[in-house]
Amino acid sequence: MTDRSEAASLLAQARELGAVLSDLNQVSGLLGWDQQTLMPQGAASQRGNQIATVQTLLHDMITSPKTASLVRALTEVQDQFGHTDRAMIRELRREHERATRIPARLVVELAHAQSEGVEVWTKARADNDFASFAPILRRLVALSRERAEHLSDGQEPYDALHDEFEPGSTSARVQAVFEPLRVATMSLLDRIRGSEVRLDDAVLRRTYRAELQEKFGREQSVRFGFDYSRGRLDRSVHPFAEAIGRDDVRITTRYDENFLSTALYGILHETGHGLYEQGVAPELRRTLLEEGTSMAVHESQSRLWENLVGRSEDFWHGAWPRLAELFPDALDGVTRDAFVRASNVVRPDLIRVEADEVTYNLHIMIRFELERDLISGKLDVADLPEAWNTLYLEYLGVEVPDDARGCLQDVHWAAGLFGYFPSYAIGNLMSVQFMQAARAALPDLSEQIRAGEFSPLRDWLASNIYRHGKTHEPLELLERVTGKGLDAGPYISYLEEKFGTLYGVKT
Ligand code: ZN
Repeated sequence: MTDRSEAASLLAQARELGAVLSDLNQVSGLLGWDQQTLMPQGAASQRGNQIATVQTLLHDMITSPKTASLVRALTEVQDQFGHTDRAMIRELRREHERATRIPARLVVELAHAQSEGVEVWTKARADNDFASFAPILRRLVALSRERAEHLSDGQEPYDALHDEFEPGSTSARVQAVFEPLRVATMSLLDRIRGSEVRLDDAVLRRTYRAELQEKFGREQSVRFGFDYSRGRLDRSVHPFAEAIGRDDVRITTRYDENFLSTALYGILHETGHGLYEQGVAPELRRTLLEEGTSMAVHESQSRLWENLVGRSEDFWHGAWPRLAELFPDALDGVTRDAFVRASNVVRPDLIRVEADEVTYNLHIMIRFELERDLISGKLDVADLPEAWNTLYLEYLGVEVPDDARGCLQDVHWAAGLFGYFPSYAIGNLMSVQFMQAARAALPDLSEQIRAGEFSPLRDWLASNIYRHGKTHEPLELLERVTGKGLDAGPYISYLEEKFGTLYGVKT
């Protein structure tokens, strides 16, 4: 039996270890952020070494015999601690087990296969040449399956991979919410196809100067509550958010002078990720809990600000005059209503990252089904293009003309990321579930958004979601905040109400 003072000393050691791991993780994140934004090209190989060294240090600390015995001892006494400390121990144990279960040889093989995968994929996509990508993809699938077998506690290999992004989720649970969502989405799409209402986004494709786009994006992110004394907005080829801790949150975007949506809604999206990280409670600094709790919950926050707020009529009620003022030529003769409609065009198409709110989840379901079958061995890599094209025709009604715009479009599988895709759609579902709870708590929310007052919503999100960081597991957090488990129903109702009205096809 361990007495109280021993338990306290174990906890102090764990906190100290957590602080160092958190510092090293943040250093690694900062090196990565710089690599994608400001780093001169010539530094690429030097930077690769720096990141590898930091990662090796992290791996050595997390797998050391000292950490192993600390984790063992803590597990025995954790019942004495409060919820936050138990969560911290849970994360330490999770990272320790993950790192020790995978043989060092496999870590090295995977790292090489991933960097080769991305390199080969980049060229294969440009050349529309799936055959050249197939061998490395086959290897990545095999190595990921092997990795999953080491991680698995008896569950399906795919589930072990998915669990890394969504702790507590399984492919059966994903399937159970995706199925009704797919049926409802396809029915809505059918009605939209048959509607007399035709919307187009031509107004968004006029000329918009990048520096003015940036000005508007910054202003809006400040109004949402992004704190530039603890964050930055920069440019990168692929937009992302990287938290170097809650007091240094970097978001990026890219500007297309002939398509306003890219940066406009892109900044609102990344701001949502940024608000989550900036809103983590200060007392979680330098702990393993100082970050969002899962990919899906993160995505629920970016989607909430981008779509549920940013693409709403309420939002543009307040924001429109400023946009019209910044772009008097492009928006000459355009009404606010026309602009909102242009921002909400539904168009079944080929490319996931350009998809609207209705069709987006169908793109995800296709990837989920295919990657699950790749990992289980039910689908052979050679048959991937055909399986992909069949599902695009069935779910979205679109013919895939080539693999570049088909199964080669995303980097995820090339980077060895399997089990990640469902998080995007789960995040969409959660965003509406959270927003419903916010509306119930804030009866004047619509009026506040119309008036450009975002602090009531942001403060509600901060106290219910942001401040907890990784303390609660994702599904536990959802349950605490909404009183319910993951459910496609609210999202389906949201789509029916919004797009059924826009297209005059409400059931
Ligand atoms: Zn995102």
